Amino acid sequence: MTHLGAETIQALPKVLLHDHLDGGLRPGTVSELADAVGHVLPAEPAGLADWFATAGDSHSLVRYLETFTHTVAVMQTADALERVAREAVLDLAADGVVHAELRWAPEQHLERGLTMTEAVEAVQTGIDDGVARAAADGHTIRAGQILTAMRQADRWTEVADLAIALAGDGILGCDLAGPEDGFPPGRHDQVWRHLASHQVPVTIHAGEAAGVDSVAEALHTGQALRLGHGVRIADDITFGTHGAPAELGPVAHWVRDQQIPLEVCPVSNTQTGAAGSIATHPITRLKELDFAVTLNTDNRLMSRTSMTREMMLLNTEAGWTLDDLLDVTVAAAWSAFVHHDERRTLVEQVIVPGFQKIERAQL
Ligand SMILES: [Zn+2]
Repeated sequence: MTHLGAETIQALPKVLLHDHLDGGLRPGTVSELADAVGHVLPAEPAGLADWFATAGDSHSLVRYLETFTHTVAVMQTADALERVAREAVLDLAADGVVHAELRWAPEQHLERGLTMTEAVEAVQTGIDDGVARAAADGHTIRAGQILTAMRQADRWTEVADLAIALAGDGILGCDLAGPEDGFPPGRHDQVWRHLASHQVPVTIHAGEAAGVDSVAEALHTGQALRLGHGVRIADDITFGTHGAPAELGPVAHWVRDQQIPLEVCPVSNTQTGAAGSIATHPITRLKELDFAVTLNTDNRLMSRTSMTREMMLLNTEAGWTLDDLLDVTVAAAWSAFVHHDERRTLVEQVIVPGFQKIERAQL
């Protein structure tokens, strides 16, 4: 296995399906926005990146969640939302991302008087501006929003209605996030039928903090077309040792049979305890077993990560090759919440030629 190197990996075209807008701010932007609204941060500007990364690495859920109270606190005005969205797109484009789906929960950004619609429109303005500026810099990226409802709150219907009203206008789908235990999709099961009847695709965070039952509920009640993380599907698999085949339980079979895309976020999983290390992360075994694995960042600020870093770690610590990286990128493109013909264009005209170019340069 060859080490591919940062420059090579950065040049690869990438597809990112799972990235939180409130988890991907530039540290400098957090400081400036906090100053503007008088929000007190836990560290000086110079130490802020470290503070977020240390809290992310602390293995303490309380500290991890505290990081989001600060990012969300500074994202309460249209200008702030617009800036954060614009910078996210620019940072992703510079990282080689050609298709990005940015998720966030509008209900958490209403403290200074914005309506959910105004908040979503501000983010879209920022995304569109970021796409245009990236293009001027020579980076072609397409980006849209996934609207998240929080499991522990009761605004699922509002979020779903907004996604339905704005679908196609930069809104790509809906997501459910927050504490898995105790707040299952079945709490408001009509929401999922409502979204499906309007052809709005759904992804649900499941199989991260909770196990197989949570995955099953996300799929069967939540009608999720993708799973946020989903790595605990490994709990339903007995991995064969010494060449023996793996044995799959019924939910694992279903996820593989239907090729339900898993939005796997390796670095984040090692921080939250959903996985031990990159070397032993189930993503590699799931991929070998032909699950529809995709690779994602989750929270770039708290995990001090990027798509390039996730790919580099899989290359150096889990033995992934350029072909493996191509596989997950193509899988992500075919799983994007855009129409089939647009996915085909992405695969055939952007991803495959982009990887071939790098492969030729390596010879
Ligand atoms: Zn997530």
